[in-house]
Amino acid sequence: MRNGLRINGRKKKRVPATNLTSVRVGGPVRYLIDVYDLRSLRNLLAWAKKRGIAYRVIGSGTNLIFPDRGYDGLIIRLGGSFKRLWFKDQVIAGCGIVLKDLIERLIKRGYGGMEPLYGIPGTLGGGIKGNCGAFGVSISDFIDRIFILAPDGEEMMFDRKRIGFGYRRSRLLPSQIITFALLRLKKGGSITKARGYLKRRLEKIPEGWSAGCIFKNPEGKIAGRLIERCGLKDFQIGGARVSGRHANFIINDGTATSSDIIRLIRYVRQMVRRRFGITLELEVEVVR
Ligand SMILES: Cc1cc2nc3c(=O)[nH]c(=O)nc-3n(C[C@H](O)[C@H](O)[C@H](O)COP(=O)(O)OP(=O)(O)OC[C@H]3O[C@@H](n4cnc5c(N)ncnc54)[C@H](O)[C@@H]3O)c2cc1C
Repeated sequence: MRNGLRINGRKKKRVPATNLTSVRVGGPVRYLIDVYDLRSLRNLLAWAKKRGIAYRVIGSGTNLIFPDRGYDGLIIRLGGSFKRLWFKDQVIAGCGIVLKDLIERLIKRGYGGMEPLYGIPGTLGGGIKGNCGAFGVSISDFIDRIFILAPDGEEMMFDRKRIGFGYRRSRLLPSQIITFALLRLKKGGSITKARGYLKRRLEKIPEGWSAGCIFKNPEGKIAGRLIERCGLKDFQIGGARVSGRHANFIINDGTATSSDIIRLIRYVRQMVRRRFGITLELEVEVVR
């Protein structure tokens, strides 16, 4: 890329969003940049700001739906040093690391606690942003502090209170990039235990291209059950289908557009509201 952008990383133009997410829909992204160190990330934000280019950071794209028109801005992914781990008094992890790799590497070094999260797709950064969780455990249970890069290039440290974790959410803004995290772990991890959780996960999670659970569970209820009770399992709009195995998943049959998925989400929501008077809240994020 011309125009004075010097970074340690990899730059691409007009990348189809289908290649960036697990649900594989969406139009072209103007710029995709994999950035490998903090200084480059700062330069990149300054470059984007100077040119008035909007940006978003993504991880593995397992909780995202890009629109069919694409994204007229810069998509940033964290690689290089953002995938590293440091074992000091506390463990410090780069937020581009894939959660499954993180847990394996921690177990090898004798740290545990995160085993129930083994197999949740995505990165540490994406996991922290949405406070991912499984089997009654959330990633917030293991986060002590995080480092954030703000749009003006300022680095800030947030403690747990400032992160504002809640059920499948944090209070972090889309413009704040989580770069590194200090973890709170127990001694004595077990890969056998982790694989046990992975096996249980694979038994209930449907195969195919999806963005994970579409809706959050409403207080005291299970979103998938409500959808199922509306008779919507296998209901299809265009190439998007409510999974017959787990009704809170929408599967792209290989031909879905983003609009098919969004129309199906709206329809499911409407049916659940009509039948139970409950408005389901999105767990996936539709990129604007
Ligand atoms: C088959 C399948 C199973 C799943 N199972 C579960 C499950 O059991 N539990 C669960 O909680 N989720 C589950 N998910 C959803 C998803 O895996 C999680 O939400 C995951 O944490 C998203 O991580 P990601 O790296 O893919 O984030 P992305 O989808 O890339 O991004 C999600 C959000 O995080 C932001 N983000 C990403 N990286 C950063 C960063 N470094 N700094 C700031 N913001 C960032 C993005 O801007 C976006 O807002 C599942 C998804 C799939 C496809």
